[in-house]
Amino acid sequence: MGEKLTIAVQKSGRLQEDSLRLLKECGISIDNGKDQLKANASNFPLEVLYLRNSDIPQYVQDGVADIAIIGENVVIEKQKELEILQKLGFSKCRLAMALPKDVEYTGLEYFNGKKLATSYPNSLKQFLDANNLDCDIHVISGSVEIAPNIGLADGICDLVSSGSTLFKNGLVEVEEVLVSEACLVANKDISNLKSAILDRLLFRMKSVLAAKNNKYILLNAPNDKIDDIIKVLPGMKSPTVLPLAQEGWSSIHSVINENDFWGVIDQLKINGAEGILIIPIQKMVL
Ligand code: ATP
Ligand code: MG
Repeated sequence: MGEKLTIAVQKSGRLQEDSLRLLKECGISIDNGKDQLKANASNFPLEVLYLRNSDIPQYVQDGVADIAIIGENVVIEKQKELEILQKLGFSKCRLAMALPKDVEYTGLEYFNGKKLATSYPNSLKQFLDANNLDCDIHVISGSVEIAPNIGLADGICDLVSSGSTLFKNGLVEVEEVLVSEACLVANKDISNLKSAILDRLLFRMKSVLAAKNNKYILLNAPNDKIDDIIKVLPGMKSPTVLPLAQEGWSSIHSVINENDFWGVIDQLKINGAEGILIIPIQKMVL
């Protein structure tokens, strides 16, 4: 049996579904039995360990798992020596400070001497130290957002994505401590054989992620506008221009970043583009 790479993913919880989907999009099939804590990929030298979120950084540091998919915030909070190899674009959130909505917030110095509830004491401490603030940190493991209502704390430091939990509890976000998303992390010294497998996996992940951020675009344009259109559509190397059956018109094909999309569309229309089609890309090999 050849060398295998071991990856830790969340056993249950917010990152699990997207983590497993990403592996699947990388063409990796995992033979999952019910309630198994360990599974093997059938078509890639990968073993999957299903672990508890907060335990994952320790397992990777110890080399029980070589790599893992975990929130950046957990890596920071656990203060482990891990290498962040790739941000993965899901489970985006921020660690933020929040106060009861009737508090008149005057700026960071407001927090001096206050009692703050959090499940992320290390991240909070780093932030307070960096801002020369001295607070009383009260560590609780869950439902942090009710702490101010029951008189346990003046404010909280917690993970926020939509902000609806804060809103429901009469809290308002006042400071951002850090931003986070799921990322691929690795043990600092994995063997050369495992590194080679990891390179193959990373290559696949990058192709999947690039495809998600980009769209294939097709449009028809009058020939005298082709140069102007190409200026707003750089493409991977240079756009493809094909003649249409109709005299004086061409079809232009290119790749466009999701974030530039609406801005570029306006430019295209101004330049007489017609029949614009935007098509998802499944894999983009870079
Ligand atoms: P454990 O399994 O150790 O109890 P957990 O309960 O914290 O961990 P989850 O709630 O499933 O695990 O996932 C928490 C992770 O999800 C966070 O560390 C963060 O990276 C990510 N996340 C994204 N958005 C949010 C959010 N709004 N609130 C909390 N976590 C979020
Ligand atoms: Mg949990």
